[in-house]
This record gives sequence, structure tokens and C-alpha cells, in this order.
Amino acid sequence: MACPAENLSCNVRDAKRVLSAAKRVVFLTGAGISAASGVPTFRGEGGYWRNRSVIALATPEAFDADPKIVWDWYLMRRQTIAARKPNAAHLAMANWAKAKRISRDIALFTQNVDGLHEAAGQPDVERLHGSLWVNRCTKCGKEREDRALEYAELPLSPCCKALERPGVVWFGERLPRCTMLKATVFVMACEAMVVVGTSGIVSTAADLIVTAHQRGAVVIDVNPEPDMVIADIHVDEPAEVALHLILT
Ligand code: ZN
Repeated sequence: MACPAENLSCNVRDAKRVLSAAKRVVFLTGAGISAASGVPTFRGEGGYWRNRSVIALATPEAFDADPKIVWDWYLMRRQTIAARKPNAAHLAMANWAKAKRISRDIALFTQNVDGLHEAAGQPDVERLHGSLWVNRCTKCGKEREDRALEYAELPLSPCCKALERPGVVWFGERLPRCTMLKATVFVMACEAMVVVGTSGIVSTAADLIVTAHQRGAVVIDVNPEPDMVIADIHVDEPAEVALHLILT
């Protein structure tokens, strides 16, 4: 509902007021923030790619059985995303964080692996699910950034000359411990949490949101189809519209 005083919804005004006062702010983002950049969800046609289940491809077992087809799948995703640009939501968030971080604690945790927060200039992106643009040594676990869009041979690590794997979290794997620890510490102390483009159903995201809520933080849910019961403020606009309104 539009407030009479300004051409902004009451919820947008409430969110702006909360964020202007909060000294410790956590952002948590998911696929919805990248939708306006044209990043597909990569669930494939009916959940299949080259007659393989997309979910089954994103597993350590699939990589052990056939590393080439798993790399082909991830290289296809790199090729699709390479031409994509950060949208107004990524940029509003990055600019806000850069302008405000002198006087506040600001953290961003993302479930996305597309690298668009980094491309927008977001400081200190914490990736809960890894990155499409990172390779990991299968022997020692060391990671390195890699922007290759194709390989003549499967990639070998510079450290151990061992096969590299995509630096993402697969089904059945734990989220990076260090990042999860940081997320928990930030979330327990934050005054406001802005959840963007994620339903909060993925258990890790849900746990972080519940923790923030229980510790007294104001939870702001940015989602065109709000479904987060515990959010204090719902902004039911697409991320690229909502974040521009809230953060500028
Ligand atoms: Zn190594």
C-alpha cells in the first residue's frame, strides 16, 4: 500500500529506516537476485542435461565416475554466465556496502555461484556454495580462480598436478566450515538481515534467518512472492527494483 506522504510503499520506508539505523547488517542472497541478469537456474530441460539428471551430476559420485561429463556441464554453465552482467540489485548492494562500511559492520553471504556480486564490486563476498569460477585440487583441496570456458584436457592443479574439480558445493557435501562459522557469528550479532531472492527453504539459509530472528534482528525479506513467515518486513518487488528503492 502506498503511503500518502511519499510514493513509496510503507514496507520500503520501514526497510530504509531500519537500514539507516542498523550498525550491523547481514545480506543473504539466492538465485532471485541474479534472475534479472538472465542467469538460468540450470535445472535443465525437465531436470536433465545430455540425458543425465542434473541433480545426479552435481555430486562427488558423478565426478568420480565421469569427471569429463561433470566438467562439461560446469563449463557449459560458465559459458552461459560469462556474458551476464550484474544487475541493479547487485550494484545497489555493492555501492551501499562500499559507502557504509566505514561506519558499520556489513557482511554478504550468497548461495549463488555465478560471481555477479564480485563483478559488481561487492566487498568481502562470502560464498556458501562456492563459485563456478574456482577450481579445487582433488588431492590437497587448494583452490584457485579459473576463468577458462573450455579445456583441451581436464585441468590439473598447479600444486599437486592432480585432477581439479569445480569449486562448488555438491549434493551430499558440507558447506565450507569457515564460511558457515563466519555467517553464524555475523548473524548472531546483526541488527538487520536482508534476505534477497531466496525462499529461505534451503535449510542453511533457513537456519541463519531463524537465528537472526531469535536474536532480535529485523528480518527484511525481498521477494516478489513473499513466503517467509518469520520476516518482519516484506518487500514484494523483484530484487533489482526493491534494492534500488531501499538502498539508494
Ligand atoms: Zn594440491
